[in-house]
Amino acid sequence: MALLTCASHAVSGDHFIANRRVASARALAVTSPIDGTPLGEIAAGDAAAADQAVEAAQHAFPAWAALSPAGRGPILRRLADLIERDVEALALVETTNNGSLFEASRLRVMKRAAYNIRYFADLAETLAAPAWDTEAANAHNRVRYDPAGPTALITPWNAPLMLATWKVGPALAAGNTVVLKPAEWTPVTASMLADLAVEAGLPPGVLNVLQGLGPEAGAALVAHPGIRRISFTGSPPTARLIGAAAAANLTPVSFELGGKSPLIVCDDADLDLAVATAAGQYDNAGQVCLAGTRLLVQAAVYDEFATRLRAKIAEIRQGDPRDPATHVGPLVHPKHLARVSGYVERAVAAGARVVCGGRVSPTLGGLYYEPTLLVDVPEGAEILREEVFGPVLTLQTVADDAAIVAVANDTDYGLAAVVFTRDQARAERLADALVAGTVWVNCFFVRDLAAPFGGSRQSGIGREGGHWSFDFYCDVKNVVHRKGTFAEAHAAGRRPHGA
Ligand code: NAD
Repeated sequence: MALLTCASHAVSGDHFIANRRVASARALAVTSPIDGTPLGEIAAGDAAAADQAVEAAQHAFPAWAALSPAGRGPILRRLADLIERDVEALALVETTNNGSLFEASRLRVMKRAAYNIRYFADLAETLAAPAWDTEAANAHNRVRYDPAGPTALITPWNAPLMLATWKVGPALAAGNTVVLKPAEWTPVTASMLADLAVEAGLPPGVLNVLQGLGPEAGAALVAHPGIRRISFTGSPPTARLIGAAAAANLTPVSFELGGKSPLIVCDDADLDLAVATAAGQYDNAGQVCLAGTRLLVQAAVYDEFATRLRAKIAEIRQGDPRDPATHVGPLVHPKHLARVSGYVERAVAAGARVVCGGRVSPTLGGLYYEPTLLVDVPEGAEILREEVFGPVLTLQTVADDAAIVAVANDTDYGLAAVVFTRDQARAERLADALVAGTVWVNCFFVRDLAAPFGGSRQSGIGREGGHWSFDFYCDVKNVVHRKGTFAEAHAAGRRPHGA
């Protein structure tokens, strides 16, 4: 039996299959990035555990799918209520397990995790399914969103419960059953979610949690022929492996991957807002897929922006993420620290100049890598092209709008772009030309669950959010009736799905 003790909470580290804890012969150690404290162990899942979890999801699927959205809704809303009830505990556990800020987690992130469940439960009940007549054929079309089946959800470590519920919510609301494989460094809140699912009344097998390493538990899960959908958030190299496994079974995938997003400051920008937003890219120690890590600043305001940004960075308080006064905490894991510092060392070797940070904090030590700003980065350098996923920003100057678009789009990624300008027409021209799943103008990180979310190029495949989530998690069926063969009249238009 694997056990975790995290922020005084005892949590099972075993798998959760058909509403029961399932132990594993092998275990993996989990530690806190705050100070390296051992938190306990989780089950090291293998192909046999993946089979067992998928079988449970297969067994539970027909009954869960047969419940209408209105039948599933109350159970899912109860789960959302329970997450809200336990926000403080979940936030403290998440902070202890992954080093994210407790205050942000308590006030926003965990509430969002609850909303991820509630929003999609509600939307499933009111989802408008198109219906229309094909007059020439004297026929009527009626679209249905049918549950797809057992679904594999693979999540990363940077916002564990928020990103898990962002997938669990729509997948379950759509009528699918789920096997969730959380990241091996941050497994604790997924295990707590399983306990809450039992309390909420989710039938056995509807939500299963498979613990373990990606190349073992994760690889076995996504290769399983019983899986009907795979939704993955993580890095492009892992996505390639999952894509290859999915191809063998022709399993549809949704990939939310990395980014190298530009944050563009035009010469007419509100500099207070632009500087504050740029400094905000160090949030969560820069471990944010959407972060605008390439600061592209027009020449006319470059010097002022750079001076003000350096002053702002100097105000950032780094420290224990449980302390409400802390702005930036530690990186998640020693292996990730090595990756982040390696990127900075190679950038410096290529000619970049460190103007802030560029090292582990000499006072804090451990995984506390300082907010880092690099300038004079040579064109084409690795640090301008690859995702660091740490508190590292580069600052470049750009001449005009044509250069802004060219430099911003000169990346294999296309997750997000951030633009600061006071000129609306210019903002629209730039937004039209930028390659990105989301463009924020004079704002950042506004994430409306009704909006499509995803990335272009290497940043992902597909979109989730709003009805786009149901387009992915459901088998979309068109039912065509010859008109006049039934007594009832068909009215063209849209009507709620499941009504
Ligand atoms: P990762 O790809 O290493 O791991 C993600 C998950 O995949 C983990 O659960 C891991 O165990 C699992 N995994 C690893 N190998 C696997 C395999 N062969 N088969 C199946 N599963 C496997 O990513 P990470 O380091 O945990 O997360 C950081 C990455 O996630 C960054 O690239 C970041 O940009 C991205 N991310 C993207 C978004 C988004 O919404 N676009 C959000 C957060 C993070």
